[in-house]
Amino acid sequence: MDKEKIERAVYLLLEGIGENPEREGLVETPARIARMYEEICGGMKEHPGCHLQKTFTAEHSDMVMEKDITFYSLCEHHLMPFFGKAHIAYIPDGKVVGISKLARTVEVFAKRLQIQERLTAEIADAVMEYLKPKGVMVLLEAEHLCMTMRGVKKPGSRTHSVALRGVFEEDSKLEQTFYMMLNKWR
Ligand code: ZN
Repeated sequence: MDKEKIERAVYLLLEGIGENPEREGLVETPARIARMYEEICGGMKEHPGCHLQKTFTAEHSDMVMEKDITFYSLCEHHLMPFFGKAHIAYIPDGKVVGISKLARTVEVFAKRLQIQERLTAEIADAVMEYLKPKGVMVLLEAEHLCMTMRGVKKPGSRTHSVALRGVFEEDSKLEQTFYMMLNKWR
């Protein structure tokens, strides 16, 4: 990542909105933002399958679900955060992954400039490609600051997006089981 470029851009942005980038409170801001972007866009340098390589043998093919994975991403249209929960379920085909690995995979894609629909699809596609289950379903619910802090200003409104792959596309009962498991214990 070119931090120097980010610093110059933020300096210009501050000037552009009529601020004085040299005043005490702002003088460190360009460098701070450059460091911050290295973290919040850190997923760009990670391989999509890096957390799904280490798998364990599974005899069963019962649904595995990881729910309420908190994520933070940046909308590519406004560079403003959108954030919420990801829920992932898959039907193993001989292999499962460690519990934290699905959450790590969400992060790889969330820490990039995104739109929610693509983020949802990329998580599902990575699970299909690298874990090779019989099917996967991903549901994301998120609040977009570009919708709630500006524009239509609807605080608390949440956007839902779903991606179904493999057997989830063919068997609607699996989708129903997903929603049943999601809403249980809540
Ligand atoms: Zn936006």
